[in-house]
Amino acid sequence: MTTTAEPIHLAVLGAGPGGYPAAFLASELGMKVTLIDTEENPGGVCLYRGCIPSKALLHVARIKQEVHEAAEFGLHFGTPEIDLDALRDWKRRVVAKLTGGLGTISRARKVEYVRGRGRFVDAHTLRVANEGELVEVAFDYAIVATGSSPAIPGPLRVDSPRVWDSTDALELREVPARLLVVGGGYIGLEMGSVYAALGSEVTIVEMTNGLLPGADRDLVDVLRKSVAPRFKEILLGTRVTNLEDTGSEVRAALAGADVDETRAYDAVLVAVGRRPNSAELGLENTKVVVGDRGFITTDVQRRTAEPSIFAIGDVAGEPMLAHKATHEARAAVEAIAGEPSAFDAAAIPAVVFTDPELAWTGLTENAARERAIDVEIVKFPWAASGRAVTLDRTDGLTKLILEPGTERVLGAGIVGVNAGEMIAEATLAVELGARADDLRFTIHAHPTLSETVMEAAETFFGQSPHYLARRRR
Ligand code: NAD
Repeated sequence: MTTTAEPIHLAVLGAGPGGYPAAFLASELGMKVTLIDTEENPGGVCLYRGCIPSKALLHVARIKQEVHEAAEFGLHFGTPEIDLDALRDWKRRVVAKLTGGLGTISRARKVEYVRGRGRFVDAHTLRVANEGELVEVAFDYAIVATGSSPAIPGPLRVDSPRVWDSTDALELREVPARLLVVGGGYIGLEMGSVYAALGSEVTIVEMTNGLLPGADRDLVDVLRKSVAPRFKEILLGTRVTNLEDTGSEVRAALAGADVDETRAYDAVLVAVGRRPNSAELGLENTKVVVGDRGFITTDVQRRTAEPSIFAIGDVAGEPMLAHKATHEARAAVEAIAGEPSAFDAAAIPAVVFTDPELAWTGLTENAARERAIDVEIVKFPWAASGRAVTLDRTDGLTKLILEPGTERVLGAGIVGVNAGEMIAEATLAVELGARADDLRFTIHAHPTLSETVMEAAETFFGQSPHYLARRRR
């Protein structure tokens, strides 16, 4: 870091999983840091109304499902009763604990926390508004980490307490008898699962011909088979073209391969994607360039076209994932400190927290096909995993995507319980340039689900003790 009489003053706009790690690291590196956010504490959408509250609710959904499945093993708990007030309060406590903890850490790291909505006045000044009060923050450098918001297309933008975005759905105001979920992506499947567990009759409508359009089909097939019985219907190749609140219900116009009619629901969750929060930041007062889809254009250090301003996280491009933002934060802060840092990840894991979970990292089979990359693919079905059998959760698949000739691990996909935890090993393998041999010669504890990663590698060489399959190209 350059030694100057005065420390660098860094302003970080947005205190989510991009912004708060950036602020904390900058403070560790000796910068004077101002962190700006509308909420009382750091945390952003992820902690307040995204990743964390949704996972708390999905944990409850999983327990309810397990109680149901336990009857199969002769364990009877009776019918679960859901106390919605208590559940809401538990979710609130989870969020308060984590965001409050970040507030404490922020103070301990001597980060100045300014509450309010910030706007750039020029390339070195932010004006922060909070309930009529204006604070000016002058900075040497700024990092924009303002995240994203739900994108609601025109015909689905209905001002009604029955038409929800993900934030509304997480509030758990009620459990509608009939819930329509528009979008079979991350949010639609995760929140659809929560409401199905709470007792709603859930219909999922997805415009493309499959759930989770970005994920490999063989993984999605396993997921779909497991979750389908928990939903009333999954309508693929179907669009919701209009929503109308009649005062007592919502009438949804569905247009698709199997259905072309208007149906009534008690609530509708619209989860058709998110858009970057790059408007209304005063970026026009700087040289920052915003691309067609609203993402701020940056280089590998996350520097924008304005030398004093960096951008990280959802606002700086896809994938819109918290952990990507956190790692971009490091690249940007180190670059500001004068280090030759860059965001250059070989693999960014993605996890859909359904039950079973679905995760992938590095190159997917879909992407290999689209980009005409020659790969070797090997799969290990969980029916051959002893651990999966003891859990009665053989609805899983572990697959490796390998480079022909070198057998280097280019990517992996896992569907199954705890896939979200297991994908870390595969991500490390991709980052380290590990080969299938490295995975098969690494001793994995028995009996664990992690063995499926090792056994997928063994299968590649035709040497899994539990599964016989021909390798395919
Ligand atoms: P998404 O992109 O994951 O899914 C949206 C789905 O809606 C797509 O499958 C799309 O084909 C479909 N769709 C679009 N328009 C439609 C229409 N009119 N009718 C029917 N279907 C339609 O988006 P999301 O679920 O809203 O989530 C947004 C982003 O938030 C994700 O891309 C992800 O980056 C992030 N997120 C991540 C997690 C996680 O990491 N577990 C969880 C939630 C959200």
